[in-house]
Amino acid sequence: MQKLLAKQYNFQDPKIKKLVGYDSVNFKVETGSKKFILKVYPNEKNEVDFAEAENEVLLHLQQTKNNRFPFSVKNLNNEFLTYFESKNPLKFARLLTFLEGEFLGDVEHTLELFESFGEFLAEMDLSLKGFQSYTIAARQNKWDLQCFLRNEEYISCISNPAERKIVECFFLQYKQNVLPLLPSLRKQIIHGDANDWNILTQNGTISGIIDFGDVCFSQLINELAIAITYAIMGKNDPVEWAIPIISAYHKIFPLEEKEIDSLFWLIAARLCTSVCNSAYEKIENPDNEYTQISEKPAWDLLKKWVTINPVKARNEFRKAAGYAIPIEKTVEEKTAERFQSVSPIFSISYKLPIYMESAAFQYMFDKYGASYLDAYNNIPHVGHSHPKVVDAGQKQMAKLNTNTRYIYDSLNEYSANLLKKFPAPLNKVFFVNSGSAATDLALRMARNFTQKNIVAVVEHGYHGNTQSVIEISHYKFAGKGGAGVSGNTICLPIPDTYRGEFKCENAGTSYVQKAIDQMRPFEGEIAAFIAEPIVGCAGQIPLAKGYLKEIYAEIRTQGGLCISDEVQTGFGRLGDYFWGYEAQEVVPDMVILGKPMGNGHPMGAVVCTNEIAEAFNNGMEFFSSFGGNPVSCTIGQAVLDVIKEEQLQQNAKAVGDYYLHQLRKLQQKYESIGDVRGSGLFIGFEFVKNRQTLEPDTDLARKVKNELRNQQVLVSTDGPFDNVIKSKPPLCFTKGNVDEVVEKLEGVLPE
Ligand code: PMP
Repeated sequence: MQKLLAKQYNFQDPKIKKLVGYDSVNFKVETGSKKFILKVYPNEKNEVDFAEAENEVLLHLQQTKNNRFPFSVKNLNNEFLTYFESKNPLKFARLLTFLEGEFLGDVEHTLELFESFGEFLAEMDLSLKGFQSYTIAARQNKWDLQCFLRNEEYISCISNPAERKIVECFFLQYKQNVLPLLPSLRKQIIHGDANDWNILTQNGTISGIIDFGDVCFSQLINELAIAITYAIMGKNDPVEWAIPIISAYHKIFPLEEKEIDSLFWLIAARLCTSVCNSAYEKIENPDNEYTQISEKPAWDLLKKWVTINPVKARNEFRKAAGYAIPIEKTVEEKTAERFQSVSPIFSISYKLPIYMESAAFQYMFDKYGASYLDAYNNIPHVGHSHPKVVDAGQKQMAKLNTNTRYIYDSLNEYSANLLKKFPAPLNKVFFVNSGSAATDLALRMARNFTQKNIVAVVEHGYHGNTQSVIEISHYKFAGKGGAGVSGNTICLPIPDTYRGEFKCENAGTSYVQKAIDQMRPFEGEIAAFIAEPIVGCAGQIPLAKGYLKEIYAEIRTQGGLCISDEVQTGFGRLGDYFWGYEAQEVVPDMVILGKPMGNGHPMGAVVCTNEIAEAFNNGMEFFSSFGGNPVSCTIGQAVLDVIKEEQLQQNAKAVGDYYLHQLRKLQQKYESIGDVRGSGLFIGFEFVKNRQTLEPDTDLARKVKNELRNQQVLVSTDGPFDNVIKSKPPLCFTKGNVDEVVEKLEGVLPE
């Protein structure tokens, strides 16, 4: 290096220091009072072409404010590129002037500095407008956001599935929100890597930019997206910090509305590019620490970005540029519009209903920009819009969707894999499209198998909305508008150890005794007994210990079948168990599945023994148009895969235990919390006016629900007195999420 610099540049005895970098090899060179950067490249045709093109860009920029950009220094032969023999292979070098200043990454960030950043970039991009280079235009670089999808192959390098899914989510969103826009966005040559280690500051303003190695012919907005991505890392309110950059840029180089509207997704895309490459480099070049320089802040921002309502970011970015924010109809207008065609029998949650727009994992986003923490919805079991589930559904829908009258792989595979989750006797599955349809079918099958008619149910239970199922749902037939108990139903007392008649250790036995007494007049006529292991609509009441074991034995003695409704409690939600019945050490004859099975895609199923299935095969075909179709089976399989990959049952256990613990701590402080109960992420807590009399405090429960909603946390109320708060969030819920719920809950509880 010494010899090269002496021979080619006439530098005598310069100081040379190697600098860190992504893949280029750079040296800082000092000779006398002058400083330079020497860049060394392999002597390959594309590298030479690109170095020449980069020089042209720098020469072009020198025509404007040349102190802001490095410029190329010619060697003694009057050439920009210096070829030399290093140990072999042949290499070449470029010498650039050194820019003074502190890195943006090293100085305190202020609003003024960020405005200066926006102005700086806008002026640079204006200078580059119209500049042409076919070499640069032909380049395809994975760091160029128009080539973002090239990074998809690195997703698998991210080892933590809970992190990987966020990246997958933003890849999907890029395809949906950015890809279709790309052809209509303005393109020009841009720097393409205005990260905080390439930006120099002096006296509180941006003074220079270095490293044109990512210069590209790309969408103009990508310049800003990349710059903002790094500038807002580590900020409490990253959207807020983007504003001065956007508004200052826009004043000098006006942005188009569609460019602004794509910013949120482009910033996410840059973050994903960064973490994907960090993950890849960690495997490929574990010794290069520079490749990990942004990893931690990028992940932190990505995890925050996924909680931000994209509408909020869009609106803030639009405001920064002075563009109008799209006016949405009010919630009242939308509600009135809905009632023109949809009956109010479909109730709407909360005093102030929510006009929803989108969702991601445990976060939901309304039309106006608010983000909600979803502590309530159990249907999106593995998280709202989980990319694995969405992708599986989209791909299969585009390939084949038919019905069970044909042979296809997904039915065979999914049904076999689903049945692996059950003990051996439960070895047949019937697919339908809802929990109600599953319960209805289970009743038919039980009546067919036993040739009996009566169904024993538990108080406050709910099993679905069809005629036959309403008849076995005490929650409905005994509730408002209900027709009362039918002749085919026996309603047994709920084995509730909080409010019920028996509260002692062996309360289960006492409840079974009561049940037996009640069933006595119908001996020999009972087709089935059905219950949830934790009765959701009763207010998350766990069946008393030992209850199922004894009642199952009794029902079977009488010739009936035992059905476990796992629509709410199944698929690992309870933490300790994959199915709720396991908690009571029983094996049912039939199991009903629904809600979480398809993560929101309509799926339901009956799982039963071979004998029951055989008896049902009596000559009459069973056909469900949609049940078990290829799209549903593919989605169901994706849900099973995600539960396993992200260890969601274990997460339900860990986070659920923590949740219960935190709620019980609150219960010690607040007399109004009478009971905290549940298992895993299937939790209820009950408000009472008096802990001795257990007088329910319905008003308080409703107030808490509505106030939490106003603070953007979603829970619901239920139970016969509507005084129980139910929380059954997507299983990706975190301890941090629990802290948010509990903190806000404490904030709304009266002293
Ligand atoms: N069983 C239980 C325990 C349920 O909670 C529900 C739905 N709330 C159903 C059955 C009926 O499922 P679906 O709404 O899919 O028909």
